[in-house]
Amino acid sequence: MENKKEMRTWLDALNLDHPLVVAGPCSAETEEQVLRIAHELKDTDVNYFRAGIWKPRTRPGNFEGVGALGLKWLQKVKAETGMKTATEVANAAHVKLALEHDIDLLWIGARSTVSPFIVQEIADALEGTDKVVLVKNPVNPDLALWLGGIERLYTANIKNLGVIHRGFSTYEKSKYRNIPEWQLAIELQNKFPDLPLICDPSHITGKRDMILDVSQTALDLNFDGLMIETHFDPDNAWSDAAQQVTPESLVQIMKDLRIRKEDS
Ligand code: PEP
Ligand code: MN
Repeated sequence: MENKKEMRTWLDALNLDHPLVVAGPCSAETEEQVLRIAHELKDTDVNYFRAGIWKPRTRPGNFEGVGALGLKWLQKVKAETGMKTATEVANAAHVKLALEHDIDLLWIGARSTVSPFIVQEIADALEGTDKVVLVKNPVNPDLALWLGGIERLYTANIKNLGVIHRGFSTYEKSKYRNIPEWQLAIELQNKFPDLPLICDPSHITGKRDMILDVSQTALDLNFDGLMIETHFDPDNAWSDAAQQVTPESLVQIMKDLRIRKEDS
């Protein structure tokens, strides 16, 4: 127990009375869009403001992110709202730029966790950092790849680690965009009980009206936090339109989760 507290300092240091919340748009689109969402999230439960600026798209021809320019927008978010910032990194160059711009939380996306070479490159670029680094599960339900990613980061002396469960792709037809296969997250939790475990119901569901239920399941399974894609105009978002919620809905989701918790 002692050990557990010691290990979980980055989350404990926040001293939250609610699950950790990472929220913001799937993609940074324009400076105005990023700042407007950030201001709407400012006085909510949100702890880290997320925005993807390098977007790994499965098929070419889709919006692939605004790139390094978006880092300046995230810096403005921090200066104007005081919120900490978060973005996805997918190679050493991204890491270098994100660190130069003082991004507080960097996550490795599901399409990167599948590649040990990429994870190693990112781990080497992050060596010794005190930033928070989160590893999403790989797109396919392969626990060893997920564990391998975490081990590579531990070996690179990255202390403020955590994991994100975003579900797994499947050929089968499913009501989920990525099936949760909760048992994999639980197995990982058992192997690394000191590692904060965050659920990404946005990419699990692919649909905004399922986010509350999946978030509740995650919290019932002792997840430590949620990453929820949030946009003031979800239907017109440049990526992942069907799953993003408005800042107002996010506040309602957090309220409903708390009420359900108090009831139980
Ligand atoms: C994202 O967070 O927008 C994203 C691309 O997620 P994933 O890596 O889980 O597909
Ligand atoms: Mn997304």
